[in-house]
Amino acid sequence: MVDRAMSREELAAQLEVARSRLDELITEVASNDAKMRRTQQRALLLLQAEDLQSLFAALIDGFRVSYDLDYVSVVLCDPDHDIRHLLLASGTPVNSFSNLLMVESLAGLAPQYVALHQPWLGAFTGSDHQMICPKATGQKSIAMIPLKHRGELIGSINLCSNDVQRFTRDHASDFLAHIGVIASFCIENVVNRARLLRSGFTDVLTGWHNRRYLTVRLNEELARAQRDRASLVCLMLDIDHFKQVNDNWGHSAGDAVLREIAQRIEAQVRASDVAARYGGEEFVVLLPNTDVEAATLLADRIREAISESPIDLENGEAASITVSIGIATVGPGEDESDLKTVGDSLLARADVALYAAKSAGRDRVIVEAA
Ligand code: GH3
Ligand code: MG
Ligand code: MG
Repeated sequence: MVDRAMSREELAAQLEVARSRLDELITEVASNDAKMRRTQQRALLLLQAEDLQSLFAALIDGFRVSYDLDYVSVVLCDPDHDIRHLLLASGTPVNSFSNLLMVESLAGLAPQYVALHQPWLGAFTGSDHQMICPKATGQKSIAMIPLKHRGELIGSINLCSNDVQRFTRDHASDFLAHIGVIASFCIENVVNRARLLRSGFTDVLTGWHNRRYLTVRLNEELARAQRDRASLVCLMLDIDHFKQVNDNWGHSAGDAVLREIAQRIEAQVRASDVAARYGGEEFVVLLPNTDVEAATLLADRIREAISESPIDLENGEAASITVSIGIATVGPGEDESDLKTVGDSLLARADVALYAAKSAGRDRVIVEAA
């Protein structure tokens, strides 16, 4: 009797243990399931990112929000400034991402980089992690997820939390390792894509962007201007009597003049301006966030930089060159859903102003009639 009673109690206790273990397992599976789903969603978003901008946004802000973290940074080794230039060329300088660090080398940034083969989870310490997480305050734990390119460490995604228990040595890091592999792949993919895009957007003679690039960027700049209620100014430049350069000195001298003119224009414009070789001896510069007065001053500076000193030719002679410039603008808040029409009209109006400058005697700047 006693034995049976004991065993019944024992059984009940055992059952209780099993039941609570089962509850634990169910919670764990559910949590893993949720984690898995979230990880899959994140992975999908990363894989869908078509350019560097959206990928970095998905990695930094996207991770912070979807994993409910207090701070996320991405460190990326970019020794040749390749990625930085690609970002710049697409109109999003590196500094527009507050927690994206492009570095020339990982050495000395964090001790974990010496052997970061798997995600490193543990306590956040200022001395070890402040350099890879600048501006992070109050962080207590960190997961450093390695980013790799062809097996070599190229940086890390750093997930930080104010909760000391969030990332500890005891946590499984399979999910994080998985997301790191996908992120590494996505980075390589969008970098290659940006390179490819850029190669089709480059003018071989001047190294400038070409007309195709201008068309794409014009659309982007118009969208941005509309969003920010800002204006966008377009300068259209055409070399005066360029045909005579070819006729007098030959085509290769003409090519050298084109290259020099491109350099003189480039020296005057800002990195955030969009400059492109639009046609044979025509160039276009888009000036975001600029008013017509400032644009006219810039156009005059360009015009003078070209006319003030003749261009030395290979045969020892020098060619005095002038340019004519037409200016048109899209004002702030001009709401129009069809950006292509707005862009075409902007270019056409700048061309009309350019034609007016030619008719008025060349070597001058004319702003479109109000
Ligand atoms: P205007 O002042 O009215 O602009 O006269 P222009 O002679 O500059 O204009 P036109 O359109 O008659 O001639 C442009 C010339 O530019 C004709 C073309 O052969 C030359 N050209 C276009 N692309 C190139 C190029 O890549 N290299 C060279 N050398 N010449 C080019
Ligand atoms: Mg022309
Ligand atoms: Mg011309």
